[in-house]
Amino acid sequence: MPMMTGEQYLASLEDGRRIYADGEQVKDLTSHPQFATAIRLVEKGYADHYQPGDDVNGPYFAIPRSRDDLRSLLGTLLHWDMVTVTTSQGLLALLTAAARMRADHPHYSQRIEDYFEHCRRNDLRCVQAITDAKGDRRIAPGAQEDPDVYTRIVERRPDGVVIRGAKLHISAAAVSHELVVMPTKRMKDGEDDYAIACAIPVNAPGVKIVNTNYAPRDRHEDFPASSAHNMPEGFVILDDVFVPHERVFLAGEVAHSATFAHSLGLWERLGGTAHMSEFGDTLVGLAELIAEANGTERISHIREKIAEMVIYATLVRAGLEAAIANAEPSPEGWYFPSELYTNAAKHYAAAEFSHMVRHVHDIGGGSIVTAPSVKDLENDEVGPFVKKYMATKPGVSGEYRTQLFHAIRDYTADAYGGWQLVTMLQSGGGLYAQRLVARKHYDMDRAKGLALKLAGLS
Ligand SMILES: Cc1cc2nc3c(=O)[nH]c(=O)nc-3n(C[C@H](O)[C@H](O)[C@H](O)COP(=O)(O)OP(=O)(O)OC[C@H]3O[C@@H](n4cnc5c(N)ncnc54)[C@H](O)[C@@H]3O)c2cc1C
Repeated sequence: MPMMTGEQYLASLEDGRRIYADGEQVKDLTSHPQFATAIRLVEKGYADHYQPGDDVNGPYFAIPRSRDDLRSLLGTLLHWDMVTVTTSQGLLALLTAAARMRADHPHYSQRIEDYFEHCRRNDLRCVQAITDAKGDRRIAPGAQEDPDVYTRIVERRPDGVVIRGAKLHISAAAVSHELVVMPTKRMKDGEDDYAIACAIPVNAPGVKIVNTNYAPRDRHEDFPASSAHNMPEGFVILDDVFVPHERVFLAGEVAHSATFAHSLGLWERLGGTAHMSEFGDTLVGLAELIAEANGTERISHIREKIAEMVIYATLVRAGLEAAIANAEPSPEGWYFPSELYTNAAKHYAAAEFSHMVRHVHDIGGGSIVTAPSVKDLENDEVGPFVKKYMATKPGVSGEYRTQLFHAIRDYTADAYGGWQLVTMLQSGGGLYAQRLVARKHYDMDRAKGLALKLAGLS
């Protein structure tokens, strides 16, 4: 199969998928305000990568075989649309899981590798569907009042399994082709039916996706960031979905139920850290620009806050570099980033993000949320006054400063800004998960040895 063109991607979405938004089934995804921008971005991703010929060799199907490969993958994915990024991360996570399961379950590893080839040959886009509804968080999957709050196998047939459940917060599910389903956490003995990993086409019978999106519905000119980049978040309902054996990667082997989540966590957190290193620099840029526009850039407390932001952005980037520099090879010769540095960097970047946003808000002033709209700037009667009073000095016009405030509000203080604050904390499994993994891979014996030596007790 040749690579898909942008037009072929658009046509591929007309496959009978059941997509819902604002209480209704969406008939035309491409014109709906919750999906139109996202689809345009993914279409552009296809168009940008398209090469004629029979082989599909998009860089998002590349497997890093050295630290330099890993660095170059992370450098390029910053310029991809989110669905292309989730395709790369999800498939690398599956291959990582295949490598980790090979000794115990070679047939599952083979199916994963075949599935990878299927996606590559057909140039498909995948999302990761891992987070379950989870019911009462203190109660184990099998003991929940409603047994479906964790996705489970409800029927085993000679040719496959039937699964039921829901996967929540699945980014871009509605605009991609494949749902890569994985157990949300480690399952215990007796929870075999919950240890299910598989791949499902988005249009499979029984799949229904309810969507939300922070995309602005109007006044796009006042939302420069979120009108250009947004993705739907999918509440994916799996209402007795049949999955044939060749697409099943785990079906009851609880010992490997956490292998997928750990593998995905590694790649998702690495990609997240790469994006956050760009966000950190963007926040520094916004803070410096608005300080200059306000005439406060030389005031000492403003300079200190921006210096703190510079250190944040630089340390996130340093953590990313360390994750790559300490990457390790698998028996297959693929390179996996360091678990310790990936998780520590992602945790630091996420935990301190809101602190950095606070600095931008502190530096910028109230116009971040009250600056008049672009339409008001253009109004014949009040526009000249808005321009006059929003200007600060020669070289800083009212239009420029107002648009800077809109960018800060959109990026940090409005629907998209709020989405970012929550997403920073929860994406990649949440801060707690990153603390657990970082601690597990930290050399505690060495740390204790140093402390004992200091105390004269070694
Ligand atoms: C915008 C966005 C996009 C996302 N994209 C995806 C995606 O594409 N695919 C995907 O699979 N997931 C995705 N996620 C889901 C994300 O991984 C989860 O939000 C995260 O794992 C937390 O799960 P939760 O939302 O169910 O919250 P909860 O599990 O309820 O967690 C809330 C808090 O309670 C704590 N907690 C919960 N249970 C326990 C417990 N038993 N013991 C100790 N502490 C506990 C958590 O540590 C956390 O601090 C996305 C999330 C967001 C916000």
